[in-house]
Amino acid sequence: MMRVLVFSEPSIDSIKKITLGILGKLDGYETEVAIIGDIEQSGIDSIKRYGVHRINILKGDTVQTYSPEGYTNALYAFIKNHHFDVVIAGSTSISQDIFPRLSALFDSGLASGVKDFYVENQHVFGIKEIYGGKCLVDLELLGPTPWFMTIKPGALNVSNGTNYIDSDIVDFNVPDCEIRAQIYEINENPSNRPPLEDADIVVAGGRGLGNEANLKILEELAETLDAALGASGGAIGNGFAPQEYLIGQTGTQISPLLYIACGISGATQHLSGIRNSKKILAINIDANAPIMRMADYAIIGNFHEIVPAITQQLSAQKIKE
Ligand code: FAD
Repeated sequence: MMRVLVFSEPSIDSIKKITLGILGKLDGYETEVAIIGDIEQSGIDSIKRYGVHRINILKGDTVQTYSPEGYTNALYAFIKNHHFDVVIAGSTSISQDIFPRLSALFDSGLASGVKDFYVENQHVFGIKEIYGGKCLVDLELLGPTPWFMTIKPGALNVSNGTNYIDSDIVDFNVPDCEIRAQIYEINENPSNRPPLEDADIVVAGGRGLGNEANLKILEELAETLDAALGASGGAIGNGFAPQEYLIGQTGTQISPLLYIACGISGATQHLSGIRNSKKILAINIDANAPIMRMADYAIIGNFHEIVPAITQQLSAQKIKE
């Protein structure tokens, strides 16, 4: 039986959607989870719903705060002490930092940023998008184990997890290591808005915003809906929104219940990041914009008028409630 380790990033209040998506696909395999640092009971409870055999909490002085060397050392020491065929994580900035180091240390294969994976005859295959999502390739990890794989956030559906196991919870003491690169500052999401990859509602603006000041109009809608704020490559290229807002092939893949695209035409690179949205509302002056082919709802018109009207209506509704 294939033994799988899923690395879950530290997140005090909840487990990332992508981690739950990965665990949902692994139901039936001998799966363990490794977490660095503290985790709330609610996080433990959500993991237990996915038939996880063991939850390993990695603790030590060198993992008190994030550093690539400290985290790599922690996972390397843990994995070396156990036997896993494959180690999987969401493709986030942390895993993109440490998984290449781990695969080099174990001299084994890494498939990064795949959109899906499957197991066949004790081998792990990843499905990766190429040419801006126009083609999919199946890739197989070969050579010595453990293999490493990262999955794009938002790429997998999150099931409810119905295979509850009262998983063992085990502490693992991380050995010390030399930290040669010091992190001075980590700029976490400065707003109270949910992160793009985990949000139930995403509001995004494109080049059609016209200027940076107009992002405020979308911010007000996002605030009212408790939504995340995103942008297209066109908006970011013109300096209307910061780089971390990018949705699409080179940005974040989202999987919200509702995606509201304002002044975004729907280039293939953008569409590849929104495919997993349950419903798409496009607000655009052009009824023939390519995004209309994917949209469930469309409002043809100027976002300057439409977005404030929606925000006002929703705010009035909230006050009534
Ligand atoms: P445009 O295509 O210019 O569309 C603007 C839209 O706004 C139009 O449809 C217009 O009708 C509408 N509009 C104008 N005024 C208004 C108004 N007042 N009200 C309502 N609607 C209005 N892009 C991404 O988004 N994500 C990526 O990850 C990404 N990766 C890329 C990777 C590569 C290698 C390359 C080459 C490009 C990538 N791009 C990416 C860029 C992508 O090709 C497009 O250029 C970009 O998505 C276009 O952004 P846009 O839709 O905002 O702009």
